[in-house]
Amino acid sequence: MKPKTATEFKVVEVSRNLPAISKKQHQTAFAKCFDNYAVQSRKTIFCLECGHSWKVADTKEIKKANCEKCNRQLTVTSKYNNGLRETDYYQIITAVENFQIVRMVCITKFMKKNCQSSFFAHEVMQIFIDESGKPRCMSKNVMGLSQYFDQWIVGSELSLKYYDNNRFSLKPSFIFPTKKIIPLLKRNGFKGNFHGIAPQILFRQILTDNIAETLLKSNQFDLLYYHIRNTSLKPTGIYWNAIKICIRNNYQVKDAKLWIDYLDLLKHFGKDLRSPKYVCPVNLECAHNRLMTKKNKEIWKNTLEEKKKQIAKNQKYYFKAKKQFFGLVFSEKNISINVIETVREFLEEGCIHNHCVFTNDYYKKENSLILSAKVNGVPAETIQISLENFEILQSRGHGNKASRHNKAIINLVQKNLHQITARMKLAS
Ligand SMILES: [Zn+2]
Repeated sequence: MKPKTATEFKVVEVSRNLPAISKKQHQTAFAKCFDNYAVQSRKTIFCLECGHSWKVADTKEIKKANCEKCNRQLTVTSKYNNGLRETDYYQIITAVENFQIVRMVCITKFMKKNCQSSFFAHEVMQIFIDESGKPRCMSKNVMGLSQYFDQWIVGSELSLKYYDNNRFSLKPSFIFPTKKIIPLLKRNGFKGNFHGIAPQILFRQILTDNIAETLLKSNQFDLLYYHIRNTSLKPTGIYWNAIKICIRNNYQVKDAKLWIDYLDLLKHFGKDLRSPKYVCPVNLECAHNRLMTKKNKEIWKNTLEEKKKQIAKNQKYYFKAKKQFFGLVFSEKNISINVIETVREFLEEGCIHNHCVFTNDYYKKENSLILSAKVNGVPAETIQISLENFEILQSRGHGNKASRHNKAIINLVQKNLHQITARMKLAS
């Protein structure tokens, strides 16, 4: 787009006069942005940094290596395919007059066996943020309608572009430590650390948003990070009031997600959200888990209350249909598997694993038998066995997925299927 306003003309002019980024700056960033790699081919390790190669004792795949020539710690990659390339971004932060400027450089590393690694770097974006927090962007062109950030047209000039949040919120892998910062940003609390947030986003936020500014100034960095990704911290909301109490009490929220979760629990139990006693727990994790357990118990109690009739009605039928299998327990090492004997256990199993063994009336299924597998006494999976052909139909843990003990559980059932067959015969 062509510059129209005075500010846009100014941006173009300032951009033209920025010093070119030096080879030395590229080299510094090159060393910071990328990992060092090696590739293994049978008994040979190739250092993709210096080109050196050496033999190892056998063809066993290794993950890490140390190059004896360049002395670099190397990650052995499996992505090598006739060469390897990686692309990344780094930033140089500067200021001219009242513009805070973020210069973004795209850097690509090239690696090949028997060669020294090399790179190509070019500046692809400059984000200009004025004192009101409004951004303007100079950038190179991208190929066609490409959504990929690294499809820059190398030969194109930086020119004024419409500001596109998606494209321009890219987070760099490395930021040059020497920075020039406009006074207003310093006044709004910026002390040089970005707290894991892309600089262009942080700058805009602390120029336009009082909440972000307050969080930064009061060292609530994790809440700041959370706030920039969520919209739930409104100036009038319960969270914000609670945050103000934390700030007043010098309480730093170290894990924002957990703390917000905890506030929701406090609210659920009708606790006073204006009291530092609740809002600023000494051990957040403990306080959170205590309320979570309490809430889970409550949910379980309500569910049980609701299902009582259904359980009572079906228990008789279930007992009659499956009693010949009751008492069956298979155990090995820390795994123990038993036949489920009450309809209430179906409900428990369904609640614990969050699957449908109760809701879908598995206790009514004639030709199947349901077992519960526990590891160290903790429910791990629910197993369904066919009473027609004595096969394992399914064994699932939390959220209907296989647990990490799935194989061991299935093996143990498999070994003991004959016991189920025997009981079946006994009954008939
Ligand atoms: Zn090397």
